[in-house]
Amino acid sequence: MDEAILDVVIIGGGPGGLSAALVLGRSCRNVVIVDKGTPRNRVTLEAHGLLTRDGVKPQELRQIARQQLKNYPNVTCFDEEVIQIEKHSKQYIVTTHLGRTFITRRVIVATGMIDELPAIPGFREVYGLSVFPCPYCDGWERRGEPLAVFGNEENVVPFTKLLYNWSNDLILFTNGSAQFDPKFKQELAAHAIATVETPIAKLQSADGKLEKVITETGEAFSRTGGFILNTREKQAFDLPNQLGIQMNERGGYESDDHGLTSVEGLYVIGDAKNSFVGLAGAVGEGYEAGVVINHELAMEDWVQEEL
Ligand SMILES: Cc1cc2nc3c(=O)[nH]c(=O)nc-3n(C[C@H](O)[C@H](O)[C@H](O)COP(=O)(O)OP(=O)(O)OC[C@H]3O[C@@H](n4cnc5c(N)ncnc54)[C@H](O)[C@@H]3O)c2cc1C
Repeated sequence: MDEAILDVVIIGGGPGGLSAALVLGRSCRNVVIVDKGTPRNRVTLEAHGLLTRDGVKPQELRQIARQQLKNYPNVTCFDEEVIQIEKHSKQYIVTTHLGRTFITRRVIVATGMIDELPAIPGFREVYGLSVFPCPYCDGWERRGEPLAVFGNEENVVPFTKLLYNWSNDLILFTNGSAQFDPKFKQELAAHAIATVETPIAKLQSADGKLEKVITETGEAFSRTGGFILNTREKQAFDLPNQLGIQMNERGGYESDDHGLTSVEGLYVIGDAKNSFVGLAGAVGEGYEAGVVINHELAMEDWVQEEL
């Protein structure tokens, strides 16, 4: 066991965790980041919408952040997986799959989400390359194209209306009987958007580029890309659940505005908190949690020195 008591262990080294590490490093805190290297957006080639980094490769973003963290010798990164968090009074013991343990005063969970894609043959091949979850991330590159919309809940209707902002050549594929009010089909039809309810047999693609959506009746719809409403995401890391942290309505861990959960000293940020917060959101939440934690620790240390 590493005897030194750390200020913060950050579990997850995506944009959220790395952002928290930067502000905590700059606050002279002793910080460890443990990251197992399976970020949610690893399936995509370019990430968009982050100021000064529009179009950056997801891996490059992390490399730049890691490189800049080297300026802070008080921040150390481990490419390992956390398998246990134990709370002992006011401290935590965090254990990795290699048996390495860290004692720490605070823990930030920044472990993100995992997408569970529909069991449609060919879907995995296009996800992140021409079919995406978020139009703000990838809508610009697909603007004006013939697009497929995948989804079958009530809110697929507002999602389709939103996508119309980027392309008015849309077909909604519900992959089975539509679960929403039939009046919405007419509403979409009035904007020349067909709703195809026949189950999808497969997606045809080449090099990740969607070409056709083929139904079980053999109909083939030419589409060059698309968006999916619901990727049935789930937490990448379920230990906070075992510590008694409740889930919010978005499937994230419940916490306050700064990321503090119901368990003292344990924070959660990024997608793990919000389900899908995007790069800028994760960076902002990491910064916020880092500032709040540093403030707390500074106040605690001040009182300790007086005793
Ligand atoms: C296909 C796709 C495209 C996207 N495109 C964009 C885009 O263009 N722009 C945008 O703003 N957003 C985009 N996003 C969303 C964006 O990727 C996420 O919102 C963002 O990455 C969330 O950051 P995070 O730090 O919370 O989690 P992540 O980036 O997912 O990082 C979590 C990290 O925690 C690690 N981890 C998990 N469990 C453990 C454990 N037990 N021990 C150690 N490490 C662990 C994981 O390996 C991972 O490295 C996209 C998402 C997808 C799926």
